[in-house]
Amino acid sequence: MSKQRLFTPGPTPVPEETLLELAKPVTYHRTAEQKAVFAEVVADLQYVYQTKNSVVVLTSSGTGGMEAAVSNTLAPGNKAILLTAGRWGERWKGILKAFGVETVLVEAAYGKAIPPADLEAALAKHPDTVAVFGTLSETSTGVGHDVATFGKIVAKTPALLVIDGISGLGAMECRTDDWNIDICVSGSQKALMMPPGLAYVAVSDKAWKRIEGNTASRSFYFDLKRYKAKIPENDTPFTPANTLIKAQRISLKRIRAEGIENLWARHALMANAARAAVKAMNLENFAERPNNALTVITVPAAIDGTAFLGKLEKQYGYKLANGQDNMKGKIWRLSHMGYLDPFDILGALSAIELVLVEMGHPFEAGAGVAAAQRVLAEGVRK
Ligand SMILES: *Cc1c(COP(=O)(O)O)cnc(C)c1O
Repeated sequence: MSKQRLFTPGPTPVPEETLLELAKPVTYHRTAEQKAVFAEVVADLQYVYQTKNSVVVLTSSGTGGMEAAVSNTLAPGNKAILLTAGRWGERWKGILKAFGVETVLVEAAYGKAIPPADLEAALAKHPDTVAVFGTLSETSTGVGHDVATFGKIVAKTPALLVIDGISGLGAMECRTDDWNIDICVSGSQKALMMPPGLAYVAVSDKAWKRIEGNTASRSFYFDLKRYKAKIPENDTPFTPANTLIKAQRISLKRIRAEGIENLWARHALMANAARAAVKAMNLENFAERPNNALTVITVPAAIDGTAFLGKLEKQYGYKLANGQDNMKGKIWRLSHMGYLDPFDILGALSAIELVLVEMGHPFEAGAGVAAAQRVLAEGVRK
Protein backbone atom coordinates (compact mmCIF):
# COMPACT_ATOMS: atom_id res chain seq x y z
CA MET A 1 0.00 0.00 0.00
CA SER A 2 1.36 3.44 -0.88
CA LYS A 3 2.14 6.14 1.61
CA GLN A 4 -0.77 8.64 1.83
CA ARG A 5 0.07 12.16 0.73
CA LEU A 6 -2.47 14.97 1.01
CA PHE A 7 -2.41 17.63 -1.73
CA THR A 8 -6.02 18.82 -1.57
CA PRO A 9 -6.62 22.59 -1.19
CA GLY A 10 -8.03 21.97 2.25
CA PRO A 11 -7.64 20.07 4.43
CA THR A 12 -3.85 20.13 4.22
CA PRO A 13 -1.05 18.26 6.03
CA VAL A 14 -0.46 19.14 9.69
CA PRO A 15 3.09 19.39 11.15
CA GLU A 16 4.17 16.58 13.50
CA GLU A 17 4.63 18.90 16.50
CA THR A 18 1.03 20.11 16.07
CA LEU A 19 -0.27 16.53 15.85
CA LEU A 20 1.53 15.76 19.12
CA GLU A 21 -0.15 18.75 20.76
CA LEU A 22 -3.51 17.41 19.58
CA ALA A 23 -2.75 14.08 21.30
CA LYS A 24 -2.57 15.70 24.76
CA PRO A 25 -5.39 15.37 27.32
CA VAL A 26 -8.27 17.84 27.13
CA THR A 27 -8.14 20.67 29.66
CA TYR A 28 -10.68 23.05 31.18
CA HIS A 29 -11.05 26.20 29.12
CA ARG A 30 -11.63 29.10 31.57
CA THR A 31 -8.11 29.24 32.96
CA ALA A 32 -5.29 31.78 33.01
CA GLU A 33 -3.21 29.33 30.97
CA GLN A 34 -5.82 29.06 28.22
CA LYS A 35 -6.19 32.85 28.11
CA ALA A 36 -2.43 33.21 27.64
CA VAL A 37 -2.54 30.71 24.78
CA PHE A 38 -5.50 32.56 23.25
CA ALA A 39 -3.68 35.90 23.45
CA GLU A 40 -0.64 34.40 21.75
CA VAL A 41 -2.73 32.86 18.96
CA VAL A 42 -4.53 36.15 18.29
CA ALA A 43 -1.21 38.07 18.21
CA ASP A 44 0.30 35.54 15.79
CA LEU A 45 -2.81 35.65 13.60
CA GLN A 46 -2.51 39.45 13.49
CA TYR A 47 1.02 38.89 12.22
CA VAL A 48 -0.15 36.47 9.51
CA TYR A 49 -2.93 38.89 8.54
CA GLN A 50 -0.49 41.85 8.70
CA THR A 51 -3.05 43.74 10.75
CA LYS A 52 -3.53 45.69 13.94
CA ASN A 53 -7.28 44.97 13.73
CA SER A 54 -8.94 42.61 16.16
CA VAL A 55 -9.09 38.97 15.07
CA VAL A 56 -12.15 37.01 16.20
CA VAL A 57 -11.80 33.25 16.70
CA LEU A 58 -14.91 31.20 15.88
CA THR A 59 -15.55 27.49 16.37
CA SER A 60 -16.69 26.64 12.84
CA SER A 61 -15.31 25.96 9.41
CA GLY A 62 -14.46 28.94 7.20
CA THR A 63 -18.05 29.34 6.01
CA GLY A 64 -19.10 30.24 9.57
CA GLY A 65 -16.72 33.19 9.39
CA MET A 66 -18.25 34.18 6.04
CA GLU A 67 -21.74 33.99 7.49
CA ALA A 68 -20.67 36.14 10.45
CA ALA A 69 -19.29 38.75 8.05
CA VAL A 70 -22.63 38.96 6.22
CA SER A 71 -25.04 38.72 9.14
CA ASN A 72 -23.20 41.29 11.27
CA THR A 73 -22.62 44.00 8.68
CA LEU A 74 -25.84 43.87 6.67
CA ALA A 75 -29.56 44.10 7.29
CA PRO A 76 -32.21 42.63 4.99
CA GLY A 77 -32.70 44.93 2.00
CA ASN A 78 -29.19 46.44 2.25
CA LYS A 79 -27.20 46.51 -0.94
CA ALA A 80 -23.95 44.62 -1.52
CA ILE A 81 -21.68 44.19 -4.52
CA LEU A 82 -20.43 40.64 -5.02
CA LEU A 83 -17.32 39.96 -7.09
CA THR A 84 -17.69 36.33 -8.13
CA ALA A 85 -15.50 34.20 -10.39
CA GLY A 86 -16.03 30.71 -9.09
CA ARG A 87 -17.60 28.45 -6.54
CA TRP A 88 -16.42 30.41 -3.51
CA GLY A 89 -17.87 33.61 -4.91
CA GLU A 90 -21.07 31.60 -5.24
CA ARG A 91 -20.77 30.66 -1.54
CA TRP A 92 -20.95 34.39 -0.73
CA LYS A 93 -23.96 34.65 -3.04
CA GLY A 94 -25.79 31.91 -1.14
CA ILE A 95 -25.12 33.51 2.23
CA LEU A 96 -26.15 36.99 1.02
CA LYS A 97 -29.38 35.50 -0.31
CA ALA A 98 -30.07 33.71 2.98
CA PHE A 99 -29.82 37.06 4.81
CA GLY A 100 -32.06 38.93 2.36
CA VAL A 101 -29.33 41.20 1.00
CA GLU A 102 -29.90 42.93 -2.35
CA THR A 103 -26.87 41.74 -4.29
CA VAL A 104 -25.32 43.36 -7.36
CA LEU A 105 -23.29 40.73 -9.21
CA VAL A 106 -19.97 41.51 -10.86
CA GLU A 107 -18.98 38.26 -12.51
CA ALA A 108 -16.08 36.72 -14.37
CA ALA A 109 -16.00 33.29 -16.00
CA TYR A 110 -14.33 30.34 -14.25
CA GLY A 111 -10.57 30.67 -14.72
CA LYS A 112 -10.72 34.46 -15.05
CA ALA A 113 -10.31 37.21 -12.44
CA ILE A 114 -12.56 40.22 -11.81
CA PRO A 115 -10.92 43.32 -13.33
CA PRO A 116 -10.75 46.11 -10.68
CA ALA A 117 -12.29 48.51 -13.24
CA ASP A 118 -15.50 46.43 -13.09
CA LEU A 119 -15.68 47.03 -9.34
CA GLU A 120 -15.06 50.74 -9.82
CA ALA A 121 -17.92 50.93 -12.35
CA ALA A 122 -20.31 48.99 -10.10
CA LEU A 123 -19.56 51.22 -7.11
CA ALA A 124 -20.12 54.34 -9.21
CA LYS A 125 -23.47 52.96 -10.34
CA HIS A 126 -24.48 51.85 -6.82
CA PRO A 127 -23.30 54.53 -4.37
CA ASP A 128 -25.66 53.07 -1.72
CA THR A 129 -23.54 49.88 -1.50
CA VAL A 130 -22.93 48.90 2.11
CA ALA A 131 -20.29 46.25 1.48
CA VAL A 132 -18.27 44.67 -1.33
CA PHE A 133 -17.61 40.94 -1.15
CA GLY A 134 -14.68 39.22 -2.87
CA THR A 135 -12.29 36.29 -2.78
CA LEU A 136 -8.51 36.46 -2.43
CA SER A 137 -7.71 32.96 -3.69
CA GLU A 138 -10.60 31.45 -5.67
CA THR A 139 -9.78 27.84 -4.77
CA SER A 140 -12.22 26.40 -7.31
CA THR A 141 -10.24 27.79 -10.27
CA GLY A 142 -6.79 28.72 -8.90
CA VAL A 143 -7.34 32.41 -9.68
CA GLY A 144 -5.95 35.11 -7.38
CA HIS A 145 -7.62 38.51 -7.17
CA ASP A 146 -6.00 41.93 -7.06
CA VAL A 147 -7.33 42.69 -3.60
CA ALA A 148 -4.81 45.52 -3.09
CA THR A 149 -6.47 47.45 -5.93
CA PHE A 150 -9.99 46.48 -4.78
CA GLY A 151 -9.02 47.99 -1.42
CA LYS A 152 -7.86 51.26 -2.95
CA ILE A 153 -11.18 51.59 -4.79
CA VAL A 154 -13.46 50.67 -1.88
CA ALA A 155 -11.57 52.75 0.73
CA LYS A 156 -12.66 55.94 -1.09
CA THR A 157 -16.32 55.07 -0.41
CA PRO A 158 -18.37 54.43 2.74
CA ALA A 159 -18.60 50.72 1.76
CA LEU A 160 -16.75 47.92 3.54
CA LEU A 161 -14.41 45.53 1.74
CA VAL A 162 -15.08 41.95 2.90
CA ILE A 163 -12.68 39.30 1.66
CA ASP A 164 -12.78 35.52 1.76
CA GLY A 165 -9.12 34.81 2.45
CA ILE A 166 -9.79 31.25 3.54
CA SER A 167 -7.31 29.60 1.18
CA GLY A 168 -5.28 32.75 0.44
CA LEU A 169 -4.16 33.81 3.90
CA GLY A 170 -0.77 32.32 4.68
CA ALA A 171 -0.22 31.19 1.07
CA MET A 172 -0.07 34.44 -0.89
CA GLU A 173 0.62 38.05 -0.07
CA CYS A 174 -2.19 39.53 1.98
CA ARG A 175 -1.70 42.84 3.77
CA THR A 176 -4.97 43.41 5.57
CA ASP A 177 -4.21 46.94 6.82
CA ASP A 178 -2.20 48.28 3.87
CA TRP A 179 -4.80 46.94 1.44
CA ASN A 180 -7.77 48.36 3.40
CA ILE A 181 -9.53 45.02 3.91
CA ASP A 182 -12.29 45.70 6.45
CA ILE A 183 -13.19 42.09 7.11
CA CYS A 184 -10.91 39.21 6.16
CA VAL A 185 -12.08 35.66 6.81
CA SER A 186 -9.84 32.61 7.01
CA GLY A 187 -10.00 29.04 8.27
CA SER A 188 -7.65 26.72 10.09
CA GLN A 189 -7.44 23.89 7.55
CA LYS A 190 -5.92 25.65 4.55
CA ALA A 191 -2.54 27.40 4.78
CA LEU A 192 -2.57 27.66 8.57
CA MET A 193 -1.43 24.04 8.98
CA MET A 194 -4.31 22.78 11.10
CA PRO A 195 -7.24 20.36 10.96
CA PRO A 196 -10.65 21.94 10.16
CA GLY A 197 -12.64 23.51 13.00
CA LEU A 198 -11.64 27.14 13.49
CA ALA A 199 -12.55 30.26 11.51
CA TYR A 200 -10.82 33.60 11.92
CA VAL A 201 -12.31 37.01 11.17
CA ALA A 202 -10.18 40.18 11.15
CA VAL A 203 -12.38 43.25 11.64
CA SER A 204 -11.37 46.90 11.04
CA ASP A 205 -12.60 49.92 13.02
CA LYS A 206 -14.69 50.96 10.00
CA ALA A 207 -16.36 47.54 10.07
CA TRP A 208 -16.88 47.56 13.85
CA LYS A 209 -18.69 50.92 13.54
CA ARG A 210 -21.03 49.40 10.97
CA ILE A 211 -21.53 46.23 13.04
CA GLU A 212 -22.29 48.17 16.22
CA GLY A 213 -24.80 50.38 14.42
CA ASN A 214 -26.53 47.46 12.70
CA THR A 215 -29.45 46.88 15.03
CA ALA A 216 -31.19 44.71 12.43
CA SER A 217 -28.49 42.02 12.57
CA ARG A 218 -29.93 38.53 13.07
CA SER A 219 -27.37 36.32 14.71
CA PHE A 220 -26.75 34.84 18.12
CA TYR A 221 -23.83 32.41 18.05
CA PHE A 222 -22.08 34.46 15.35
CA ASP A 223 -22.92 37.87 16.84
CA LEU A 224 -19.46 39.45 16.58
CA LYS A 225 -20.28 42.05 19.26
CA ARG A 226 -20.31 39.23 21.82
CA TYR A 227 -16.81 38.20 20.73
CA LYS A 228 -15.55 41.77 20.76
CA ALA A 229 -16.71 42.21 24.35
CA LYS A 230 -14.54 39.26 25.40
CA ILE A 231 -11.39 40.35 23.58
CA PRO A 232 -9.97 42.40 26.49
CA GLU A 233 -10.16 39.27 28.68
CA ASN A 234 -8.56 37.04 26.01
CA ASP A 235 -11.68 34.94 26.14
CA THR A 236 -14.64 33.86 24.02
CA PRO A 237 -18.38 34.14 24.73
CA PHE A 238 -18.96 30.39 24.26
CA THR A 239 -16.84 27.29 24.94
CA PRO A 240 -13.91 27.65 22.55
CA ALA A 241 -12.40 24.66 20.70
CA ASN A 242 -9.55 24.94 23.19
CA THR A 243 -7.65 21.86 22.02
CA LEU A 244 -7.62 23.27 18.48
CA ILE A 245 -6.56 26.70 19.70
CA LYS A 246 -3.63 25.14 21.56
CA ALA A 247 -2.67 23.24 18.43
CA GLN A 248 -3.00 26.36 16.28
CA ARG A 249 -0.49 28.03 18.61
CA ILE A 250 2.08 25.39 17.64
CA SER A 251 1.49 25.73 13.88
CA LEU A 252 1.61 29.53 14.16
CA LYS A 253 4.99 29.25 15.93
CA ARG A 254 6.29 27.42 12.87
CA ILE A 255 4.87 30.16 10.60
CA ARG A 256 6.39 32.89 12.76
CA ALA A 257 9.77 31.16 12.74
CA GLU A 258 9.71 31.01 8.95
CA GLY A 259 8.61 34.65 8.62
CA ILE A 260 5.66 35.82 6.55
CA GLU A 261 7.69 37.05 3.56
CA ASN A 262 9.64 33.77 3.41
CA LEU A 263 6.39 31.89 3.65
CA TRP A 264 4.94 33.81 0.69
CA ALA A 265 8.19 33.17 -1.21
CA ARG A 266 8.06 29.43 -0.49
CA HIS A 267 4.53 29.22 -1.88
CA ALA A 268 5.57 31.28 -4.92
CA LEU A 269 8.48 28.93 -5.56
CA MET A 270 6.27 25.83 -5.36
CA ALA A 271 3.64 27.44 -7.60
CA ASN A 272 6.20 28.61 -10.18
CA ALA A 273 7.77 25.14 -10.27
CA ALA A 274 4.38 23.44 -10.66
CA ARG A 275 3.20 25.83 -13.40
CA ALA A 276 6.43 25.33 -15.36
CA ALA A 277 6.00 21.58 -15.01
CA VAL A 278 2.41 21.73 -16.27
CA LYS A 279 3.54 23.36 -19.52
CA ALA A 280 6.48 20.95 -19.89
CA MET A 281 4.06 18.02 -19.48
CA ASN A 282 2.12 19.33 -22.49
CA LEU A 283 -0.77 20.45 -20.26
CA GLU A 284 -2.34 23.81 -19.55
CA ASN A 285 -2.73 25.93 -16.44
CA PHE A 286 -6.43 26.69 -15.97
CA ALA A 287 -6.17 30.04 -14.16
CA GLU A 288 -5.61 33.18 -16.19
CA ARG A 289 -4.33 35.04 -13.13
CA PRO A 290 -2.98 32.18 -11.01
CA ASN A 291 -2.38 32.44 -7.27
CA ASN A 292 0.27 30.61 -5.28
CA ALA A 293 -2.02 28.62 -3.00
CA LEU A 294 -2.63 25.94 -5.60
CA THR A 295 -2.05 24.97 -9.22
CA VAL A 296 -5.08 24.11 -11.31
CA ILE A 297 -4.48 21.97 -14.39
CA THR A 298 -6.87 21.70 -17.34
CA VAL A 299 -7.63 18.05 -18.07
CA PRO A 300 -6.79 17.21 -21.70
CA ALA A 301 -9.77 16.08 -23.80
CA ALA A 302 -8.38 12.58 -24.30
CA ILE A 303 -8.12 11.82 -20.56
CA ASP A 304 -10.85 10.87 -18.08
CA GLY A 305 -10.00 13.40 -15.36
CA THR A 306 -11.76 11.59 -12.52
CA ALA A 307 -10.21 8.21 -13.44
CA PHE A 308 -6.80 9.90 -13.51
CA LEU A 309 -7.20 11.16 -9.92
CA GLY A 310 -8.36 7.70 -8.81
CA LYS A 311 -5.21 6.09 -10.22
CA LEU A 312 -2.98 8.76 -8.69
CA GLU A 313 -4.44 8.08 -5.26
CA LYS A 314 -4.77 4.30 -5.48
CA GLN A 315 -1.46 3.55 -7.12
CA TYR A 316 0.80 6.24 -5.67
CA GLY A 317 -1.00 7.62 -2.58
CA TYR A 318 -1.22 11.18 -3.94
CA LYS A 319 -4.57 12.78 -3.11
CA LEU A 320 -5.32 15.79 -5.35
CA ALA A 321 -8.71 17.48 -5.67
CA ASN A 322 -11.13 17.18 -8.55
CA GLY A 323 -13.04 20.15 -9.93
CA GLN A 324 -16.21 20.95 -7.98
CA ASP A 325 -19.75 20.67 -9.33
CA ASN A 326 -19.77 21.35 -13.11
CA MET A 327 -15.94 21.46 -13.15
CA LYS A 328 -15.70 17.81 -12.07
CA GLY A 329 -13.43 15.84 -14.40
CA LYS A 330 -12.36 19.05 -16.17
CA ILE A 331 -9.59 20.22 -13.85
CA TRP A 332 -7.13 18.83 -11.29
CA ARG A 333 -6.20 20.91 -8.26
CA LEU A 334 -2.77 20.52 -6.65
CA SER A 335 -2.39 22.38 -3.35
CA HIS A 336 0.80 24.13 -2.22
CA MET A 337 -0.72 25.33 1.03
CA GLY A 338 0.81 25.19 4.46
CA TYR A 339 3.04 22.34 5.56
CA LEU A 340 4.36 21.43 2.11
CA ASP A 341 7.74 22.15 0.57
CA PRO A 342 9.22 22.09 -2.96
CA PHE A 343 10.27 18.45 -2.56
CA ASP A 344 6.71 17.45 -1.81
CA ILE A 345 5.73 19.15 -5.07
CA LEU A 346 8.46 17.35 -7.05
CA GLY A 347 7.11 14.05 -5.73
CA ALA A 348 3.56 14.92 -6.73
CA LEU A 349 4.71 15.96 -10.21
CA SER A 350 6.58 12.69 -10.61
CA ALA A 351 3.48 10.67 -9.72
CA ILE A 352 1.35 12.84 -12.07
CA GLU A 353 3.81 12.05 -14.87
CA LEU A 354 3.57 8.31 -14.23
CA VAL A 355 -0.22 8.33 -14.53
CA LEU A 356 -0.03 10.55 -17.63
CA VAL A 357 2.33 8.00 -19.21
CA GLU A 358 0.01 5.15 -18.25
CA MET A 359 -2.99 6.95 -19.77
CA GLY A 360 -1.16 7.64 -23.02
CA HIS A 361 -0.79 11.42 -22.76
CA PRO A 362 1.72 12.65 -25.37
CA PHE A 363 4.74 14.20 -23.62
CA GLU A 364 8.31 13.40 -22.76
CA ALA A 365 8.36 11.59 -19.40
CA GLY A 366 10.54 13.50 -16.93
CA ALA A 367 10.10 16.86 -18.67
CA GLY A 368 7.71 18.17 -16.00
CA VAL A 369 9.93 17.21 -13.08
CA ALA A 370 12.95 18.66 -14.93
CA ALA A 371 11.15 21.96 -15.57
CA ALA A 372 10.20 22.20 -11.90
CA GLN A 373 13.75 21.37 -10.85
CA ARG A 374 15.07 24.12 -13.14
CA VAL A 375 12.82 26.64 -11.36
CA LEU A 376 14.18 25.48 -7.99
CA ALA A 377 17.76 25.67 -9.28
CA GLU A 378 17.15 29.23 -10.47
CA GLY A 379 16.30 30.15 -6.89
CA VAL A 380 19.60 28.73 -5.63
CA ARG A 381 21.69 30.33 -8.37
CA LYS A 382 20.77 33.96 -7.68
C1 LIG B 1 -12.22 26.05 1.61
C2 LIG B 1 -12.77 27.35 1.22
C3 LIG B 1 -13.99 27.82 1.74
C4 LIG B 1 -14.91 26.96 2.58
O1 LIG B 1 -14.49 26.83 3.83
P1 LIG B 1 -15.11 25.71 4.80
O2 LIG B 1 -14.01 25.64 5.81
O3 LIG B 1 -15.28 24.46 3.99
O4 LIG B 1 -16.36 26.22 5.34
C5 LIG B 1 -14.42 29.07 1.40
N1 LIG B 1 -13.71 29.85 0.58
C6 LIG B 1 -12.55 29.45 0.04
C7 LIG B 1 -11.81 30.36 -0.89
C8 LIG B 1 -12.04 28.18 0.34
O5 LIG B 1 -10.89 27.79 -0.20
